[in-house]
Amino acid sequence: MSSQESAGGTKRKIWSMDPPPPPKKRSFAEMGKKVGQNKDHDFGGRALGDMKDSDEFAFLTYAACPTFTKEHKSLMSKTLTPELFEKLKNKKTSSGYTLSNCIQTGVETPHLGVGCTAGDEESFEVFKELLYPVISGWHGGYDAYTQIHPTDLEPSHVIFSDAQKAKFNAYVASTRIRAARNIRGYPLPAGSTPETAAAVEGLLKKTFMGLEGDLKGKYYPLGGMSPEDEQSLQDQGFLFQKPKTTNLLTNAGAARFWPDSRGIFHNENKTALCWCNEEDHCRIISMEDGGDVKAVFALFCALSEAMKASAEGAGAALMHSPALGYIGTCPSNLGTGMRASVMIKLPCLNDHVALLEQVCDAFDLQPRGSAGEHSAAVGAKWDVSNKQRIGFSEVQLAQKMIDGVSKVIEIEEKLAAGASVESIETSLGALRSSL
Ligand code: ADP
Ligand code: MG
Repeated sequence: MSSQESAGGTKRKIWSMDPPPPPKKRSFAEMGKKVGQNKDHDFGGRALGDMKDSDEFAFLTYAACPTFTKEHKSLMSKTLTPELFEKLKNKKTSSGYTLSNCIQTGVETPHLGVGCTAGDEESFEVFKELLYPVISGWHGGYDAYTQIHPTDLEPSHVIFSDAQKAKFNAYVASTRIRAARNIRGYPLPAGSTPETAAAVEGLLKKTFMGLEGDLKGKYYPLGGMSPEDEQSLQDQGFLFQKPKTTNLLTNAGAARFWPDSRGIFHNENKTALCWCNEEDHCRIISMEDGGDVKAVFALFCALSEAMKASAEGAGAALMHSPALGYIGTCPSNLGTGMRASVMIKLPCLNDHVALLEQVCDAFDLQPRGSAGEHSAAVGAKWDVSNKQRIGFSEVQLAQKMIDGVSKVIEIEEKLAAGASVESIETSLGALRSSL
C-alpha cells in the first residue's frame, strides 16, 4: 500500500490509485509439493516415490537426459550427454542411489559449479563415467583412472616465511582448515535414511569421546541447541549454515529430516571442531584468529590423525581409496578433502569482483563470501581458499594457499597504490609463473 501527501498537508491513503499488487509467487512448499524440484522451471524430473523421500523432500526421476539451459553452469551439465544418460540411467548402487539422485541437485539448482553428488562410496564406481570427468574438470585435470592420490600430513614440510607471516597477520582476520571424513559402510547424507544417519552420529560420538589432550571436548546435537546458541555459533563461523534452496545440500536431498542426527563437537577453546551429518558424515575443522596458517595446519594434522585412530578404535573405517583419497559427497571434496581458507579483507579487489575471481583462478584459489559458499562478502571480507583437493597432498595444498594468497595481497597493495585493473590483468601471467 502507498500513502501520499494531500493538498492540505495531511497524509491520506489513495487506495484507488495504487497499482494492483503483483500476484504473489507461491513457493513450492506452499503449492503442496515437496522441495527438491526447481520452483521456476520443469526440467523433466518426476516424483515417483523414492524410498528415501521424506515428508518435505521428493527425489526426482528423469526419464530422459534433462535439457540443460544456459543457466546450467555445472561440470555435470557439461559432461552428461544423452548417450551417457542412457548408459547409466538404470544403474543403482547397493544402497539404492540412482543416476537421477546423483544429478538432481545440479539439474534443479542450475547455478552450481559441480552439480552432482554421491549417495555412498559405491557411487564413485557405478557412476564413474560421469563423476571422473567432473573430478578432472574441477581438480585441474586429475585423472582418477590412472593417478594415485598423495598424502602428506607433516606440518614441518610447509614453508611459511617470516615475511609471509607478517603480511598474513596484517590482512587476515582468521584461518580455517577443514576436510571431509566419511564412515565406510553407511550411505552419505544425500543417500541416507534416518536410521543410517543416526548410526553414523552414534559412531562419531564414540569417536569424539576418544579425542584427548588439546582435542578433548564435547558434542552438541543441533536439535538440542537453543536457537540463540545455534545463531551465535553460526555467526562466529563455527557452525554450518542452515540449508537453503540455493545451495547444493537441499536439492541433493542431503538436508532431509533436518536437524535430526546433526551436531557439532568442539574442544574447549573452539580451535578443533567436527560437524556431524551436514554435507558429509563428518567435517574436521581447525581454526583460529589471525593468519598463522602453519599453526592451524599443525592442529588440523593432529585432529585428522586422532580422528582416524579414534574412529578405528570405535570399530569404523573411513571411506578412502588410492585413486580418490578420502571420499565424500561432492566430487569437489575428494582426495585430501581439504579446504584451507583465510578470511581476508580486500577493499580494493572487492571493488573489482571480476578481477578478484580472475586473480584467484590464476593461483588455483576459490573466493567465497564472508558467511560461506554463495554468500555476500560483507565489509569487503572474503574467504579465500585452495580450489583443488585431490592430486596434491595436504602439505602441497596448504603451500599453494599460502603462496597464492601472498600474491593476492601483493595485487591488493598494487591496486591500493593506484595501479589500474588493466595493468594487473596484464601482469597476471608473469605473477603466476613466478610461483
Ligand atoms: P565449508 O564448506 O568449507 O565448510 P562454507 O563455505 O560452507 O565452508 O562455510 C562454512 C562456515 O565457515 C561459514 O560460516 C564461513 O564463514 C566459515 N569460514 C570459512 N572460512 C573461514 C575462516 N578462514 N575464518 C572464519 N570463518 C570461516
Ligand atoms: Mg560447505
